[in-house]
Amino acid sequence: MTGHFDVLIVGGGAAGLMCALTAGQRGKRVLVVEHANRVGKKILMSGGGRCNFTNTGTTPANFLSANPHFCKSALARFTPWHFIDMVERHGIAYHEKELGQLFCDVSSKLIVKMLVDECHAAGVRIETSCSVERMTHGESEDAAFRLHTTHGNFAAPALVVASGGLSIPSMGATGFGYELAKQFGHAVLPTRAGLVPLTLSGKHQERLADLSGVALPVTARCNGRAFSNYMLVTHRGLSGPAILQISSYWQPGDDLRLDLLPQHDALQALQDWQRERPAAELKTVLGDAMPKRFAQRLCELWLPNRPMKQYNMPQLREMAQVLSDWSLVASGTEGYRTAEVTLGGVDTDELSSSTMQSRRVPGLYFIGEVIDVTGWLGGYNFQWAWASGHAAGNAV
Ligand SMILES: Cc1cc2nc3c(=O)[nH]c(=O)nc-3n(C[C@H](O)[C@H](O)[C@H](O)COP(=O)(O)OP(=O)(O)OC[C@H]3O[C@@H](n4cnc5c(N)ncnc54)[C@H](O)[C@@H]3O)c2cc1C
Repeated sequence: MTGHFDVLIVGGGAAGLMCALTAGQRGKRVLVVEHANRVGKKILMSGGGRCNFTNTGTTPANFLSANPHFCKSALARFTPWHFIDMVERHGIAYHEKELGQLFCDVSSKLIVKMLVDECHAAGVRIETSCSVERMTHGESEDAAFRLHTTHGNFAAPALVVASGGLSIPSMGATGFGYELAKQFGHAVLPTRAGLVPLTLSGKHQERLADLSGVALPVTARCNGRAFSNYMLVTHRGLSGPAILQISSYWQPGDDLRLDLLPQHDALQALQDWQRERPAAELKTVLGDAMPKRFAQRLCELWLPNRPMKQYNMPQLREMAQVLSDWSLVASGTEGYRTAEVTLGGVDTDELSSSTMQSRRVPGLYFIGEVIDVTGWLGGYNFQWAWASGHAAGNAV
């Protein structure tokens, strides 16, 4: 099979489908090449099957990138409200969970169906289970890019790379986009797993492993960033939203600090407890402010456990310091196997922030997670996929 199109899109994920439907609506002949057996697999598994499809509070400050300004233009031109508008037009019920995070009421399948329906209505052709074997460039202006695939050869004057990052290889993630970028002389910034559980080793892991499943609110701090939310102790280390968020800012060797009483001024709380419950032991009063098993472990290994009345002021200060600035040495992350995103990627320096087009190779575009733009947990990554896909879809 051969075919000539206006635009070829490699990757039928969030960004690729948004780009396809946008370009298709403009009358462009669009082909999406997806090597997995269905499109939108990450959308399907996202948000626990309910897809946290956007965040109404999205701002450029919610993204990590070597150039924090790059995402501004696309995010400003395709806002969460544009996506919500499409969701509402398709009659998909949704709700806000917390902090502006919007989830489907029923299933993330509805988001994939919406995108595919919009693609079909716009005449987009989607080839699934289709692998790119080779790509050639420069034959003629009209067929500047030619994809040699397991389903035949396809040519177009524009190629959009929407192949995503490296996280969850079992869902179809490949390094295709990074390799292609390098082939065209684009710099690719080092990649690493983001929004990922952290692992502990040695005595740190031994001290907490049997508390696996215990969750408590914390403020996690690293490299000048702080996130307040739940932390979950796992068999191998730490997870939960506060840890996933801070993991994107953590690198091996970095200092990780946790405030274990984020709703309290720790010293004030200890003083209050001393006054109100002088005969109670620390582990008992702490156990009313956090999970009992966690409080007990703190009092076995990190804090001296006594009746509250027996502490003097310097001791209370020391304990407050431990509780509000608990230092943990993480040994690593769970890696791409469980990471929600890939940090780093195609350097934004040689991309247009308004169209996502390469400044090196006319007609070549990069969108979504393959670019060095990574969002926080909470719907920001999909918003970037929609916004960058929309920007390129309007430019091709
Ligand atoms: C478990 C999990 C849950 C998540 N939950 C959320 C959430 O609730 N909210 C949120 O905002 N973000 C979430 N994310 C992140 C979000 O899924 C991604 O940031 C987003 O999907 C990126 O969109 P993309 O189109 O760039 O890449 P993807 O959606 O990953 O799409 C890339 C596509 O390209 C295909 N592909 C790769 N290589 C090739 C190739 N060589 N040839 C052809 N096709 C190829 C892949 O199969 C895939 O379909 C989650 C991620 C994971 C892993």
